[in-house]
Amino acid sequence: VADEALREAARLVREVPDFPEPGVLFRDISPMLANGPALNAVVSALGRDFDFDVVAGVEARGFLVGAAVAHAFGTGVIGLRKPGKLPVVADRIEYSLEYGRATLELPAETLRPGQRVLVVDDVLATGGTLGAACRLVRQAGADVAAAAVVLELTALEGRDKILGEKVRALLQV
Ligand code: AMP
Repeated sequence: VADEALREAARLVREVPDFPEPGVLFRDISPMLANGPALNAVVSALGRDFDFDVVAGVEARGFLVGAAVAHAFGTGVIGLRKPGKLPVVADRIEYSLEYGRATLELPAETLRPGQRVLVVDDVLATGGTLGAACRLVRQAGADVAAAAVVLELTALEGRDKILGEKVRALLQV
């Protein structure tokens, strides 16, 4: 990690063993988000030097980070949602997870074709979710400026599922 503020922020990520199931080491960024200077460092670093018109945050922790990035860089924010939450859906994408399948939905009248989108989430694990979020953006006729996460679990090689996009992870473990 390059700068000191980010190093401080990294110390606020909590490791929780066996959540949500045995064998998983969950990385909880809640204490980081609750800390003003840490949130500030994370938000600036996520958006820095990218050209984007709007942020798309992935439900649910991507909403918190994504909205903060959007506000800091003066753009709007779009929440990519799990199924059954949106009253009007513009587009959806189904994808496989380690166990089973999942869906992300794009709300109606948000993303316009040709817009450059910064896709944001908290953690890049297997890459299924972030990869699907990028495909949903493209499927809707917009461009992915980059995909940006706070933390990447490098051993899972999730980056390989997001080929063709710029991927930025502030912290790697
Ligand atoms: P994946 O699709 O496997 O990359 O998983 C991504 C989603 O699951 C992200 O939105 C994360 O919030 C969550 N996630 C997966 N593994 C972890 C982990 N070890 N710690 C925290 N969040 C995780």
